[in-house]
Amino acid sequence: MASGGEQKVVLITGCSSGIGLRIAVLLARDEQKRYHVIATMRDLRKKDRLVEAAGDTYGKTLTLLSLDVCSDESVRQCIDSVKDRHIDILINNAGVGLLGPVESISMDEMKRVFETNFFGTVRMIKEVMPDMKKRRSGHIIVMSSVMGLQGVVFNDVYTASKFAIEGFCESMAVQLLKFNVKLSLIEPGPVHTEVETKMMEEGAKMEYPGADADTVRYFKDVYIPSSIDIFEALGQTPEDIAKCTKKVIE
Ligand code: NDP
Repeated sequence: MASGGEQKVVLITGCSSGIGLRIAVLLARDEQKRYHVIATMRDLRKKDRLVEAAGDTYGKTLTLLSLDVCSDESVRQCIDSVKDRHIDILINNAGVGLLGPVESISMDEMKRVFETNFFGTVRMIKEVMPDMKKRRSGHIIVMSSVMGLQGVVFNDVYTASKFAIEGFCESMAVQLLKFNVKLSLIEPGPVHTEVETKMMEEGAKMEYPGADADTVRYFKDVYIPSSIDIFEALGQTPEDIAKCTKKVIE
């Protein structure tokens, strides 16, 4: 541990893959050992990739816990099990995507997106907030998306879930400020994680019932390159987003 500062406890949701996994590893490997990372995932049977990437930090600056952000009980159990350590930084990363025209998507699938991306994040914030407010210290990070700023064709429900969480955070940030608790949103453009690649491949070959040719062309030819250009600065790999997240908490 670096002299002059205490190790910060960072809890991250959705660390089985992609951006969450990379943030967990980057923080656990911090040269000055400034962070103790509690990397969580809903299915611990998926831990191997994280454990391998964490290397010798596993069991030292990185520990693992089970956490399903869609379950009140799981969230409460997880937070209870770490309450003696106090969470300094909460990184709400867990999220799911959903691509396609609304008329072909079931209400259950749509609710799952909101249950994860919106209520999952709200559930976490609600649980950690009282301790942060009491200690008058803390930082909450929410992994939103550029789709929290702008609608994107065939991502209607995903976009709506990210707009919703941005609205919640903008409002919540104001009341947290007076308790010295910070709330930050991160808005990546397309990041090449497994899920994004799969979505893009499926999107490019998908038949869109009811969609006219111009809309499909927009998705295939315009949306992908223009988004990458606009948000290039933030990066397109999970490692880029992990570095950006580290800067936000430093
Ligand atoms: P991944 O699918 O690789 O990672 C998503 C993670 O969320 C997985 O670990 C997944 O776990 C977890 N998760 C899903 N549901 C739950 C749940 N109920 N409880 C706990 N964990 C859950 O995707 P990314 O790394 O790409 O996405 C991470 C975040 O970044 C998301 O919020 C996403 O919306 C956002 N984002 C991604 C972009 C991209 O282009 N990839 C762009 C902008 C934002 P499991 O393995 O169990 O499914």
